Amino acid sequence: MPRFKSIVFLLFLLLTFKNISATQVKIGILYGSMLNEINVSYKNGNSALYCDSVLLKQDSRDFNLKIVAQNDSIFAYKGDSIFVCGKSFQIKAVEYSESVLNHPKFKQEKVYSGSLIFNNVNGFLFIVNDIEIEDYLPGVLEAEVGLKRPPEYYKVQAIICRTYTLSHLRRHEMEDINLCDREHCQVYKGVSNKNQELNKAVSKTADVVMVDNDFLLITAAFHANCGGQTVNSEDVWNNRLSYLRSIKDTFCLREKSAVWSKQISLEKWKECMLKLCPNYDYGSDSLISGKDNNFLQFTRKKDYSTGTCTIPLKEIRTALGLRSTFFNAFYKDGIITLSGRGFGHGAGLCQDGAIRMAKLGYSYKTILHYYYQNTSIINLDKLDFFMYVE
Ligand SMILES: [Zn+2]
Ligand SMILES: [Zn+2]
Repeated sequence: MPRFKSIVFLLFLLLTFKNISATQVKIGILYGSMLNEINVSYKNGNSALYCDSVLLKQDSRDFNLKIVAQNDSIFAYKGDSIFVCGKSFQIKAVEYSESVLNHPKFKQEKVYSGSLIFNNVNGFLFIVNDIEIEDYLPGVLEAEVGLKRPPEYYKVQAIICRTYTLSHLRRHEMEDINLCDREHCQVYKGVSNKNQELNKAVSKTADVVMVDNDFLLITAAFHANCGGQTVNSEDVWNNRLSYLRSIKDTFCLREKSAVWSKQISLEKWKECMLKLCPNYDYGSDSLISGKDNNFLQFTRKKDYSTGTCTIPLKEIRTALGLRSTFFNAFYKDGIITLSGRGFGHGAGLCQDGAIRMAKLGYSYKTILHYYYQNTSIINLDKLDFFMYVE
């Protein structure tokens, strides 16, 4: 690349990523759980305790508190002492710090690293975990992927979750947090310490994300099993994305979720079709009339057409509680048998396929490029490095 072009390209990258290379994220934890009190205690490291902006204790290495949201205030009970805070009680991490949250409702205590901020919102606790993104990601991997996956697959998922985090920093802007800890964003239940491979995968891929041809962070969609063929993004969400293209995938075919079947009564089928398309005419439904009761799919279809109705398969999937939109249908003696493949929406990375590829020795880069076409894998830290070159 000529020198001038390289400089323009670099400047473009820097401008694009200057605003997103956050190192800290604010996660709303126990989000929506409507608790008005919780116990918090010291676990590890070094923290400072604050009531609003007033420092209560610097270098606190041992605390055991009960935090209560009452009226418009936050009460912190510590032995015989009570601190009443107008806005928030904070456990600020000084270097690395871990705290334990506990409540009689919890099956087990929850450990969080980083800072914890306890606010009172409408009489309930609104708890924020202010944490380094690289400390947050192993917890997300544990909650989203589980503990028994191959190490290379954890790297794949670490890059997906980091890309998701950075591309959704404004998802909860109104609440002054970046993300919540529910399925709505990414599931997160605190520090992960049960399998060191999760932490290793995050540190070995530190600052690595995926971008499209316009250098925008990608929507790294994934699902459990594609059934042998992924779908184009526009068939699921209307938006055509250059990197979410339908590809053939043979890696997932032997897994449990690769095939499914379900039988439903003719009555239920009719009821469902009428609900999805008020013009539905039972008489012209080719599936039932038997003229074409096997609509074999050689590619993944988007709609089911009958009479004047064109019904998106994703709506049929939701209405009938099906595992995927990748299915054939047969009618016989009042029963419709749906024989399907895969589990999930089918766009982007197929988890079963990617896990199989990792077990077969494919690298995380090959796996990501296989499922996300036309993308680049880049390191944000290397871009930062260029920013400070004199
Ligand atoms: Zn959320
Ligand atoms: Zn697949």
